[in-house]
Amino acid sequence: MKTQNVSQKMISSHLISGEMTPGTEIGLKIDQVLLQDATGTLVMLELEAFNLNKIKPEVAVQYVDHNLLQTDYKNMDDHLFLQSAAARFGFWFSRPGNGISHVVHMERFGRPGKTLLGSDSHTPAGGGIGMLAIGTGGLDVALASAGEPYFVKMPKVMGIKLVGKLPDWVSAKDVILEMLRRYDVTGGRGYILEYYGPGLKSLSAWDRHVIANMGTETGATTSVFPSDEITLEFLKQEGREDEWMKLEADEGATYDLNIEINLSELEPLIALPGSPGNVVPVREVSGLKINQVVIGSSANPGLRDFWITSQILKGEVISPDVSFDINPSSRQVLENLTEMGALGPLIAAGGRLHQSGCMGCIGMGQAPATNTISLRTMPRNFPGRSGTLDDQIYLCSPETAAASAITGKITDPRELEILMNMAYPKWIEPSQIKISKKMLIAPNEESPELIKGPNIKTLPNFEQLPDKLEIPILLKMGDDISTDGILKAGADVLPLRSNIPELSKYAYYAIDESFYDRAIENQKLHTGFCVIAGNNYAQGSSREHAALSPRYLGQKFAIAKSYARIGWQNLINFGIIPFEFKNPADWDKLEQGDILQIEGLRIAIKNREAVTATVIGKNIEIPLIYNISERQVEHILQGGVINFVKQK
Ligand code: SF4
Repeated sequence: MKTQNVSQKMISSHLISGEMTPGTEIGLKIDQVLLQDATGTLVMLELEAFNLNKIKPEVAVQYVDHNLLQTDYKNMDDHLFLQSAAARFGFWFSRPGNGISHVVHMERFGRPGKTLLGSDSHTPAGGGIGMLAIGTGGLDVALASAGEPYFVKMPKVMGIKLVGKLPDWVSAKDVILEMLRRYDVTGGRGYILEYYGPGLKSLSAWDRHVIANMGTETGATTSVFPSDEITLEFLKQEGREDEWMKLEADEGATYDLNIEINLSELEPLIALPGSPGNVVPVREVSGLKINQVVIGSSANPGLRDFWITSQILKGEVISPDVSFDINPSSRQVLENLTEMGALGPLIAAGGRLHQSGCMGCIGMGQAPATNTISLRTMPRNFPGRSGTLDDQIYLCSPETAAASAITGKITDPRELEILMNMAYPKWIEPSQIKISKKMLIAPNEESPELIKGPNIKTLPNFEQLPDKLEIPILLKMGDDISTDGILKAGADVLPLRSNIPELSKYAYYAIDESFYDRAIENQKLHTGFCVIAGNNYAQGSSREHAALSPRYLGQKFAIAKSYARIGWQNLINFGIIPFEFKNPADWDKLEQGDILQIEGLRIAIKNREAVTATVIGKNIEIPLIYNISERQVEHILQGGVINFVKQK
């Protein structure tokens, strides 16, 4: 039999349809699903629209980690709705404050060799313990919850050979920042990043989680580590060693692309504001004055990550100019930090302790001050994500964060050896930890009514695709537009995620504050609108609201030079056609306000034929292409997947 790498083994053992030829559509059996609250409310409304009885996967968990602030009734309305929906459809329910989805999932449910589909783009963190874990839009997770396969284009596999051993003051975050330094936010597109080699021995399961989690930022479909002795040690620590299986690449297995990282040669790295791909060595920006340091998030969630900051800050006081915020990643981590005496030094040094969850990572609190630098151990720094529109967020390791919190300036942690005569604290993985399960509610056979407070609005209905369109370009955008740009993040917006009419007021807000008013005005004049964009459109989070809200306002299609995977899928799911420029240079010919006309659209889509848009009054024709599967044709024609399922 042909030798296989780990990714190929997991795909072939879950393949329901298609062939494993890169770029072609495959259908995968999904063993586990996870939802977080910011996307989960919609998924539950979709399951209601499907009229589903009980969900099908082996494990399904609804987490509440994103919208934890209770400044009015809205988030709490969502929490109650989610708890009732979890019970109604058969999900586990992880109560508010129990921790970040990816962290609790790895602690309690993740299992080597299984597939996991999550309505959160950092779901690939599960790859740290040998899962095939993919992040996608909520509608795909709703379908998987109903027992349908997950369809995705067969990725290529990038084999990343790790050799050497990380030097002192350099940790797992620097490994993934090195990947981003090399590949930026698009270099992983169409790939699974599979790690192997002798360097793996020195990376714990949580180190691997850090690397797999933030692999999402390269645009990769997912990241995969083997399941080895270190995975077994992790499962033992969690009291789940019986769930271990060995999963390694066959001797002589090959990869579509081969790269190598010598861990011994890495140094502390940092991503500059604006994009996780803007990576430079910390020493190049050291000395810049900072105003805030935030530790935690699913990108640095393990006990070690908090412990190391605690060791560095022990007996110190943070700079008077710095707010030092601690976001515990899970209740279990918090309980263990307390028990091992690692929380005390963080508090004594001046740390501000928040509840377990995403918090500042998704702009739910901890928004930085205007024109100041915030240093974070988080995975993303797209403009405005923090809740401050002109923010300056730098991403780094816990070591760099702790060193900088003391000095008040961006500091290469290696400098602590000279500045404070400090040796690098050596972490030894504990063989046993305290297990915390109390805040998980198991599914049962009952089917209670859904509790819908005033913040929960039933999903809007959408019309089918028309045959002729004559609509304006309401927004022209450049490259790398993120879903944070398409739909604003932050504490004022997130609580509206189960209320599409209200949420839509923030569509494209971070790019053009007047967009909503123009969209409403446009509704009086035209039957819809379109937008145009450059490369890598809709990168970033998995939120389907970034397709649903523009759709609600009347968006019929987008034309981009290229798309990020999840964003592209979400557009199709909600009946927005993701056109691409046949000639990318045509982007320059189009202007905001141009009226585009397309005729014979339904027939063309049905036959998957190319389409031409005519610019009214300008004598310009723009040839458009799109790459949708036969299965997706019906979704577009029906006006989205919900209509399609209802029709079925
Ligand atoms: Fe939460 Fe941030 Fe992790 Fe997303 S990346 S799951 S917002 S902690």
